[in-house]
Amino acid sequence: MLKGKVAIVTGGTRGIGFAIVQKFLENGAKVALLGSKSETVEKAIAELKGQNSSYEVIGFYPNLTKEEEVKDIFKKVEESFGSIDILVNNAGVSSRTKLEDYTEEEYDKVSDLNIKSVFVCSKIVIPYLKKTKGVILNTSSMVSIYGQPSGVMYPASKFAVNGMTKSLSRELAPFGIRVNAVAPGVIETDMVKNLPEEMIKPLIQTIPLGRIGSPEDIANAFLFLASDMANYITGVVLSVDGAATN
Ligand code: NAD
Repeated sequence: MLKGKVAIVTGGTRGIGFAIVQKFLENGAKVALLGSKSETVEKAIAELKGQNSSYEVIGFYPNLTKEEEVKDIFKKVEESFGSIDILVNNAGVSSRTKLEDYTEEEYDKVSDLNIKSVFVCSKIVIPYLKKTKGVILNTSSMVSIYGQPSGVMYPASKFAVNGMTKSLSRELAPFGIRVNAVAPGVIETDMVKNLPEEMIKPLIQTIPLGRIGSPEDIANAFLFLASDMANYITGVVLSVDGAATN
């Protein structure tokens, strides 16, 4: 579905981002995965090459909030792979701190990675996507629908992601660039896998489909939205949550 396309996936070293990278490679894309440090980026690339040595995958670890660093990396991706067709803004950090205990440092950490990095990477990729009539995809969350009872900046940041998705879909539509988001429900990444059984069980009872989602469930939605099958879809926040938010 993505033969000949070039994708950049932030937060591509593990969890949902790693599943997106795998899915895109399986479907013929060339992928640049971005992470926070060299060891995790190298480990992810080694694992992917182990799965299929012909995968065309490279990795970097820029500070996603610094325009000059991101600019430099995106230039390297185009030099290596010839174009950029898809940007997936997936890197994110969650938060559960009560408002009274929230520090300015935590506010900055969550808003920098979850909001500013989406702003910076989307801005820097525009000249490339204008050439390819490409796609920007953002990872939102089910908490962007109804909030959460602690860690206010996490849901607030995902409301911002939805806002950027909808606004940029309008701003960039004249250039043939599509902008969409996927809002995952509870997904079985490392964080959820390590929760005790007594926390998981009641959680599952709140999900009409009766199970936690897999990273692949989310990657499938990204694949569809990145592909030409979604050519007339833009400005959408697609819930992939087993009806948890219905
Ligand atoms: P994860 O913690 O497993 O992976 C996070 C990724 O972000 C990693 O690749 C990491 O390298 C990268 N990252 C972290 N800090 C970074 C930094 N400072 N600079 C650059 N990269 C950094 O997380 P995940 O659960 O796979 O979540 C991925 C996205 O999905 C996030 O945006 C998250 O908010 C969203 N999400 C997750 C769930 C869930 O249940 N897991 C649900 C809804 C939304």
